[in-house]
Amino acid sequence: MLTENSSRRHFMRIASGCAGYLATAPLWVRQSFAIRPQATVVAETPFARIEALADGVWGVISTPLRDGERQFATTSNGGIVQGRDGLLIVEGFMSDEGSAWVAEQAFALTGMRPTHVVLTHFHGDHCRGIAGLGLDGAASHATARTRELMAEGEETILPEGEIAANGDTTIDLGGTQATVTARMGHTPSDVTVEIRDRNIVFCGDLVWNEMFPNFTHSIPSHMVRACEQLLRRDGVTYVPGHGDVADMAAQDNYLGLLQDLERAAQRDAAAGVDLAAAVAAYEVPASLGTFVQFGADYVERAFRAWYRELGAAV
Ligand SMILES: [Zn+2]
Repeated sequence: MLTENSSRRHFMRIASGCAGYLATAPLWVRQSFAIRPQATVVAETPFARIEALADGVWGVISTPLRDGERQFATTSNGGIVQGRDGLLIVEGFMSDEGSAWVAEQAFALTGMRPTHVVLTHFHGDHCRGIAGLGLDGAASHATARTRELMAEGEETILPEGEIAANGDTTIDLGGTQATVTARMGHTPSDVTVEIRDRNIVFCGDLVWNEMFPNFTHSIPSHMVRACEQLLRRDGVTYVPGHGDVADMAAQDNYLGLLQDLERAAQRDAAAGVDLAAAVAAYEVPASLGTFVQFGADYVERAFRAWYRELGAAV
């Protein structure tokens, strides 16, 4: 029987050589996703935990692959921010069950019900559970473009408050301000939510940790540039869209992956390599660590997005 270490080395060889590796990923790879708290855990359930990041700021870290089970109630990460007069929840999460759990924990921590929610982008795992937050009379916020994209999909509850399409929108919670910054790249409209006086950024799906990002709706050059601008600021805590709170090594690996994909796609598109061949030849550099994939076709989605943006034949 292989020890965990030799098994790990064996898997790294397989992983770096096979684009569809999650299909054959050992259980420990799935189980090791998002299991390392970076701050004090104040609440935990099989599908998520809540970490105290700073005074009045908590991160919701989802653990959808924990115990080898698919625990999708929240699925995405998010946050809780308390001010004197208001309580902001970052993200609407995947299901009413998941978001109701977040709202319940937020009440236990703060004695407050949500007064605001910000949706970082239109994907269902970040907004489908919005009703479960119990936003009776509260304000829900997204960009106009995100609202349009939600309306084109299956979402029935749409945010009402508007976040500016460019620059920053400030949400004042009373003594605590959340700065919502319009960006793009993971989708045509993404926002980050920053609590500047506490050095915390909720990144939405522009940033992932130890999970290969989903490029399905991506404009990849904007994603790379947004992350180069956003990440690696000294003393800042980053809550990614998926995975553990990102330390500096995790940020390096993630940026390295985005930049490696950019170089590979640009090289292959310029050389006229067709999409299937480019995908088959791509290997995640072993130096960047292991990235779990939700689906076996995530490398293909990345190259497809790049080829689309570069005007190469797909
Ligand atoms: Zn997303």
